[in-house]
Amino acid sequence: PRKQLIVVTPTYNRAFQAYFLNRLGQVLRLVPPPVLWIVVEMNPASTKTAELLRKTGVMYRHLVCTKNSTDVKDRGVHQRNTALEHIENHRLNGIVYFADDDNIYSLPLFETMRHISGFGTWPVAMLAPSKNKAILEGPVCNGSQVIGWHTNERSKKLRRFHVDMSGFAFNSTILWDPKTWRRPTSNPIRQLDTVKEGFQETTFIEQLVEDESHMEGSPPGCSSIMNWHLHLDSHNEVYPKGWLLPKNLDAV
Ligand code: UDP
Repeated sequence: PRKQLIVVTPTYNRAFQAYFLNRLGQVLRLVPPPVLWIVVEMNPASTKTAELLRKTGVMYRHLVCTKNSTDVKDRGVHQRNTALEHIENHRLNGIVYFADDDNIYSLPLFETMRHISGFGTWPVAMLAPSKNKAILEGPVCNGSQVIGWHTNERSKKLRRFHVDMSGFAFNSTILWDPKTWRRPTSNPIRQLDTVKEGFQETTFIEQLVEDESHMEGSPPGCSSIMNWHLHLDSHNEVYPKGWLLPKNLDAV
């Protein structure tokens, strides 16, 4: 049987939300089942989002994060944690992947993920129009062995693992079965840390795997780009007068 993929997406209300969620939903619709899409909003959940999710035809769970946070730097962290807690509490079995609503994902990415047994990672292309260039972040591999990292100027040497949030996936059983996976710490993981920007991925991954030798570069060779992380700022969109809908989510 095919492995279940558990795709975790934090989302919030803004101009492009309907566009982003529809686009991601349509990609997930094309991925052979079983796929479970866990979409997490901050309190309160929006009925518009619920409506949109129903129409995608993807198996989903719509969760609400009740944590009070006004820190704009958190950017979905508490929502991802809500999903992690849900996956652990309900012992949902599958490959967990953090897919932000605004990135670009290919179908081969999801096919590749199904071959991960414990922890898999791959390079992600980051596009920042303001910087006018694309950069890579993620593993350099020899076969499926991780032998180094593509880094960028944001990170330099300080981070242990140079992995983007959308550049890794792991077997959910790592969360509750530390012995099987030789997890470095036997403390419960549960949480992505709200540490300073750029360090969330590495501090989380450091709890999942000991070192590179326990990682799977996927697909072997790590030479293909399967998803793109866009840094598009859609916060300052300007609409012609009268166009802005109160909730911004358009019906399709
Ligand atoms: N996000 C959210 N609430 C926020 C900010 C971000 O739910 O206040 C979600 C957003 O929808 C996306 C993810 O968190 O799925 C990452 O956000 P963003 O792309 O803005 O961050 P970046 O990738 O640019 O760091």
